[in-house]
Amino acid sequence: MVVYNSILRLQFPTELKTMPDATKHLAYHFEGLIQVTEAKGYRQAYLQFPFEVPQGTGAVRLRLRYSPPKVGGVSNLITLGVFDPRGFRGNAHRNPPHPEVLISAEAATPGFLPGAVPPGEWLAQLALQAVLASDPPCAYTLDIELLPETGRAQPARPPLSFQAVRSKNAGWYRGELHSHTLHSDGSLTPAELLAGARSRGLDFLAVTDHNTISALSAIEQAADDRLLILPGIELTTFYGHALALGVTQWIDWRTEYNGWTMDDAARATHAAGGLFIIAHPQDIGSPVCTGCRWEYPDFDLDLADGVEIWNGGWRGSNDKNPKNLRLWRDLQSEARRIPATAGSDFHGGMDWWKTAPVTYIYAQNLSTPALLEGIRLGRMVLSSGPWLQIQVSTGSQSQTVEIGATLVSPVNRVFITAAWENAPQGAELVLSNRQGPLFNKPVSAAGTMQEWVEILPDDHLWVALYAADGDLLAITNPIYIEPPA
Ligand SMILES: [Zn+2]
Ligand SMILES: [Zn+2]
Repeated sequence: MVVYNSILRLQFPTELKTMPDATKHLAYHFEGLIQVTEAKGYRQAYLQFPFEVPQGTGAVRLRLRYSPPKVGGVSNLITLGVFDPRGFRGNAHRNPPHPEVLISAEAATPGFLPGAVPPGEWLAQLALQAVLASDPPCAYTLDIELLPETGRAQPARPPLSFQAVRSKNAGWYRGELHSHTLHSDGSLTPAELLAGARSRGLDFLAVTDHNTISALSAIEQAADDRLLILPGIELTTFYGHALALGVTQWIDWRTEYNGWTMDDAARATHAAGGLFIIAHPQDIGSPVCTGCRWEYPDFDLDLADGVEIWNGGWRGSNDKNPKNLRLWRDLQSEARRIPATAGSDFHGGMDWWKTAPVTYIYAQNLSTPALLEGIRLGRMVLSSGPWLQIQVSTGSQSQTVEIGATLVSPVNRVFITAAWENAPQGAELVLSNRQGPLFNKPVSAAGTMQEWVEILPDDHLWVALYAADGDLLAITNPIYIEPPA
């Protein structure tokens, strides 16, 4: 059997050898070269390696190797996805050296799901997230070995639930909306990540590994009543990343594979009960950070439930966060109601968290559905430390609304109240409407400010605190103002 992939212009067809050995294990070997002919200097594509798993197979072992790992200091990134006849079995989204991947009833390598090994046609799929032109070209080998059943009992795996209600009280909850474990390219186990989130004093933690949900089972088992786990996945495509928050199932991220689009991925996220958040849209892009910049100009923004404007420390690489904020302000100027979120994008190293933002969410209780509702409504404040709030009213107390809500105002003047705490020396408060900043004023460590302001038709009002050096310290989501119908 020969598998030939014309898309890749391999120098020679990918070979498939079936090598039964004395113990009747089956092994497959695939190899090939990746020629890069694109003017952009790197290749992004999917490579398919179907393989047959016979009855009586107890485990599948896969080993991907490729070389060179880097070209001119930039990593080649090829990820290995595995699908059994029923669907997703895991993904190794990490840089080389690739460890061996084992999938069996009893256990699986991080990134992959343990469980029954059904017979039939399986698919190993290489996603060339970015493979750079090099001489000689990038060469890969993929070895797959099928091991017989051991006869050991399969542990029962209860379905993921994430139904916990950690507090019944309505209020502001503080947490992390973007983090990784070693189930993708993070360095901590799920239990270690959880311990770190507890030491940070968080109320909730979203676990969003790249293109896999395999960490969720371990983290749900390690969870206790001190911290709510928000399940998720980071859809890490060739042309943009998005957080699917609140989902416990794998969401197909493979845009341009079988006609799948990012709109389809957003709809699949919603169908799974989740929210679709565009992640770090203005990050440096491929090939340095594969797919990290949002490059879906035709994406239907009505499908987005949020935009991550603050990713890691404000002074991240490439000025990405100020650019993210500008992009979000442009969406406000179009009167688009897309909430802003923050996330540390934690991959490892506790120092990272010292400068990273947290997201405060106003929720009816501390549970996954209530947090998702708070995000969807834009009841959020993003902060690296200070506390910040805004309320808007028509002047009468009965007409006061909070962050994320809509005030119906028959007049073109509203009364705003902003309040803050823990502002550092030299901080400035900036009030903005959807056309831009209205005013800024220096503030003391804590205080309140009350002002009448003129509004635009269909206006958005929000406040931000900036440090003396211009870094963002905290920002609220908008309050929306509409004329009466
Ligand atoms: Zn990302
Ligand atoms: Zn991430």
